[in-house]
Amino acid sequence: MPKTAYVNRVIVPDTIVIHTDDQSGKTPEKWFSTTTWNGLAGRDSGGRSVHFGVGLDGVGQFLTMYEGGVTQCRGAGRSLDSHSVQIEMGGRSYNDMLNGKATPAMVRSIEMITAQTVDLVLVLMETYDIPIENVIGHYEVEGSGKTDPGNTYFEQYFLPLLEENLDS
Ligand SMILES: [Zn+2]
Repeated sequence: MPKTAYVNRVIVPDTIVIHTDDQSGKTPEKWFSTTTWNGLAGRDSGGRSVHFGVGLDGVGQFLTMYEGGVTQCRGAGRSLDSHSVQIEMGGRSYNDMLNGKATPAMVRSIEMITAQTVDLVLVLMETYDIPIENVIGHYEVEGSGKTDPGNTYFEQYFLPLLEENLDS
């Protein structure tokens, strides 16, 4: 990531923030983490960053992580960035998976990306001792005006799946 995209400081995370990067909904079979990377790294000013991108091409790590802390990203406002790990899932309109508007290709893509993200979140929860209550969607951040990754999707699909895997 370019230096403008993150804060050169190591912070101890107690929260995990989940995003979607809003890349085109017309090609869900091409929702790649490399597209997420290019979108973030390509900005000359007002840089943004997250720690991981997850897409159909797998999990990409974008910022340096340590056992006891992570590089501070610029993802959801400074106050939250100073104590969180953030993950960008490729794609958009994840709520459509639950309201019947998603095409079969889209549903497949969301399922695959979610499965990988849940695995990643489980590792992060364990590494940094983060409780499930502190795994939040960007839309839950007060004053953010954001809707990603989709409230219905997050509450009815992502979190139940995470909880299920937490028990096993
Ligand atoms: Zn977001």
